[in-house]
Amino acid sequence: MYQKPNKRLKGQTAIVTGASSGIGRAIAIEIARSGANVIVNYYSDSEAAEEVVYEINENKLTGEAIPFKCDVSSEEQVQAMFKSAVDKFGTVDIVVANAGIQLDYALHEMSLDNWQKVIDINLTGQFLCAREGIKEFMRRGLRPEVSRSLGKIIHMSSVHEVIPWAGRANYAASKGALVMLMKSIAQEYAPMKVRANSIAPGAIKTPINRDAWETPEALEKLNQLIPYKRIGETSDVAKTAVWLASDESEYINGSTIFVDGGMTCYPGFTDNG
Ligand code: NAP
Repeated sequence: MYQKPNKRLKGQTAIVTGASSGIGRAIAIEIARSGANVIVNYYSDSEAAEEVVYEINENKLTGEAIPFKCDVSSEEQVQAMFKSAVDKFGTVDIVVANAGIQLDYALHEMSLDNWQKVIDINLTGQFLCAREGIKEFMRRGLRPEVSRSLGKIIHMSSVHEVIPWAGRANYAASKGALVMLMKSIAQEYAPMKVRANSIAPGAIKTPINRDAWETPEALEKLNQLIPYKRIGETSDVAKTAVWLASDESEYINGSTIFVDGGMTCYPGFTDNG
């Protein structure tokens, strides 16, 4: 649904990783609608990334978008993405480290490659993007006319930063580790006015979890895990991301915001457990 642009993030630039699909796509569009320029990062789906860029530029949302292909687990490619953002827009103010994958296996059948790949993208990729963001924030210095913070880092975590997940130990381990990455960054750079926070979505309707919502039976089973009794929409997460990127949340630092309809409230205990 078309919504009017606003100017909460005007004059700022955001890098959104994994913006060619699902949650990242919605965040890129919402951030542009709020006035910031956006680097629409993708890995394999250039057509989908071009569509996001088209939607932003063609609808004349107040920010401008460019696509950028980059594997977030590659140090060289992440550095090239930040350089390209600075060359085009002058700086980077907001990093949304969102790209993530799942490769599901029982632990005894999980190859080292399938462990490593998830850790490389979901955890190391977020480290690399956060590090390059902080370097750029420090180089540029505070710009009080656009934000009271030097820069904002938003990590895309998951309810699986606290809920164990059988058959997906690689994924749960990557998200659990993100808690301490995010909090350590928050502690280390808060004196410089950098804010680092995480969003932990529950079940959001995207291609990553299609099996869980594709049929009415699957959706009904999923709803048993969600006290609010509906699957999350990408817009639920995107609105939270814009708020975390804006000065409205200036005093929020080192926190995880759960966007999960209550999934982390032990729904199994609703009837005495
Ligand atoms: P999705 O629709 O499958 O999108 C994943 C995105 O990550 C795509 O844009 C993909 O790009 C990109 N990507 C994959 N590998 C990459 C790499 N090496 N470098 C750069 N980008 C890469 O998934 P989603 O549901 O939106 O998930 C986004 C984030 O939310 C993930 O971190 C996920 O763990 C988290 N999350 C999702 C849910 C949920 O219910 N959906 C719940 C909790 C947390 P290409 O398509 O161009 O290859």
